[in-house]
Amino acid sequence: MEAVKADLVLVGGGHTHIQVLRRFGMAPVPGVRVTLVVDRPEAVYSGMVPGFVAGDYAAHELAIDVVPLARRARARVVIARAVWVDPAAHRIGLEGRPPLAYDVASLDVGATARGLDLPGVREHALATRPIARLVAELDARIAALPPQPRARLRAGGRTPTAHLVSESALLEGYGARIKRLARAGLAARGIHVHTGVAVESVRADGFDLAGEPLAADLVVWATGAAPLPFPSGPGLPLDDEGFVRVEPTLAAANCLDLFAVGDCASLPFAPWVRKAGVYAVREGPPLDANLRAHLRGAPLRAYRPQ
Ligand SMILES: Cc1cc2nc3c(=O)[nH]c(=O)nc-3n(C[C@H](O)[C@H](O)[C@H](O)COP(=O)(O)OP(=O)(O)OC[C@H]3O[C@@H](n4cnc5c(N)ncnc54)[C@H](O)[C@@H]3O)c2cc1C
Repeated sequence: MEAVKADLVLVGGGHTHIQVLRRFGMAPVPGVRVTLVVDRPEAVYSGMVPGFVAGDYAAHELAIDVVPLARRARARVVIARAVWVDPAAHRIGLEGRPPLAYDVASLDVGATARGLDLPGVREHALATRPIARLVAELDARIAALPPQPRARLRAGGRTPTAHLVSESALLEGYGARIKRLARAGLAARGIHVHTGVAVESVRADGFDLAGEPLAADLVVWATGAAPLPFPSGPGLPLDDEGFVRVEPTLAAANCLDLFAVGDCASLPFAPWVRKAGVYAVREGPPLDANLRAHLRGAPLRAYRPQ
């Protein structure tokens, strides 16, 4: 058996790490033991989530079973939630298990939704992030709706009374044509649009908007990305929102041997990069190249997002 010279630990089975595992399956690095840490054995392919929400795909069609993928890359798989990382000590804390030591580690754990701590949101709303939870819960939440709105929702037709609430202007940062098309589409479906106001709380039977109680059978919480409780730990470089600040090499700022990618990473050198699966996928090849370079002591290359 080959001697282990370095431990590479990948935390999270997100879009970027799936690319890295595929590449390690095709071209392993001699002497490097790869360990994948995931809180659940299945990842979700985000590009199919809109189709799933529309009822075009079943949940199982979006699932990527990361365990066989890891096995092909000869990686060990640890099913446990990572709870802290200590970059100086090169250790990752795991729920219910002893900490894991690493020589080089990478974090790709995704994000959650903003505003989950508002009253009633966690209890009653259906949050769209983390996407794995959305996919796990959506069908059951729709099945629990009264029969009439349920049938109309899945038929994609004119919805029952529906409200779209946005604290900011609709589709901020998008072109005028997209905004016009979106407004026309919403109007055609009879969806009431409220912009410049915030939801204050969510109840089992509705929500409160600027002091006005509105009735709702289902509140979908699609508020954009916020950091999960992990990654966190002593000396971890975080931006103002709490995402891991990385260099153009995708290495965490001022942290030797630790990388972060996908939604959990903050790219100050490319602030226009959105928290989207498409960017996480594109970070796969540069992360793979830089992990390999770092493991053999070669210089890292800067990634330029397109
Ligand atoms: C409704 C909806 C539709 C979307 N549609 C699109 C789309 O069409 N196109 C697009 O580009 N983007 C889309 N996105 C955005 C996209 O889902 C995310 O940007 C993308 O999933 C981020 O990928 P990631 O690799 O950062 O993490 P994820 O794909 O979220 O993967 C995170 C991984 O980490 C694991 N994990 C999490 N926490 C821990 C922990 N503590 N310990 C161990 N493992 C952990 C998870 O189980 C998972 O394996 C959509 C988002 C939503 C909410």
